[in-house]
Amino acid sequence: MEKCKWCGGIFHCYKSPGLKPDWVRKRCKSCCYISYKTPPTPDQLDEIYLQAWQKDRGVGGFATGSTNTLISHSLIQSTGLNCKGLRCLDYGAGSGALSRVLISLGADVLCYEPYGPAPSDLASFWIQNQRELNAVEPFDLVFFVEVIEHAIEPVAVCRDINQLLKHGGKLIVTTPNSLGLTARLSGQSWRETENATHIGLFSNQALVQCLRQSGFVNLTRLKRPVRYSNSRIKSFFLSILQICGIDGGLRVIAEKK
Ligand SMILES: [Zn+2]
Repeated sequence: MEKCKWCGGIFHCYKSPGLKPDWVRKRCKSCCYISYKTPPTPDQLDEIYLQAWQKDRGVGGFATGSTNTLISHSLIQSTGLNCKGLRCLDYGAGSGALSRVLISLGADVLCYEPYGPAPSDLASFWIQNQRELNAVEPFDLVFFVEVIEHAIEPVAVCRDINQLLKHGGKLIVTTPNSLGLTARLSGQSWRETENATHIGLFSNQALVQCLRQSGFVNLTRLKRPVRYSNSRIKSFFLSILQICGIDGGLRVIAEKK
């Protein structure tokens, strides 16, 4: 029987996304990592992403999440890092919201986004091609925001990112939390699993294993509250879940060995 690559646990079946009912999901009974029995091919995924980009006229839609200016500021603040003068990579830049905030804070920013065109104001910071990325100067910080859940081979992608960092450089990764309160209460109807492009949905345990296997050390889970809403009441309740580590998102900072 196939074992979980993060914890060695066994799987049970989990509901397929509505858009792709033949893409069968599985969930580790032990670490709660949710993935596909057979991962989709890059071509199958490209088809869904292209549809999403066209539908949303380049804004990204579900392909890139919805990280806006408020969230970006709050996320950067939660890391406790001063980004001024640091060389930063926004890996999977989406619509560029995080990059704009980093630029406003005085960081030296490069955006990497293989899907969709560069926004006109970020064109000179933007690269679409993986080969170009491998040829640039190493980074102090890589932001990997709501991207790892889309990777077919997450360890391979994290190893590639590891190679892009300077020694002691840091990776900030965010992804949905498969052991968050909403995921626990939703059973097999957790909305993040409805998104067919979410190939791997991590718990903290699974994410830590993935990052360790990719050559990262000094892993710290960020529990400092990040604002995802303009509503004070919503933000207050969310901040309690975040401090307890049972909110809908995982945020981890890791260092290159
Ligand atoms: Zn597992």
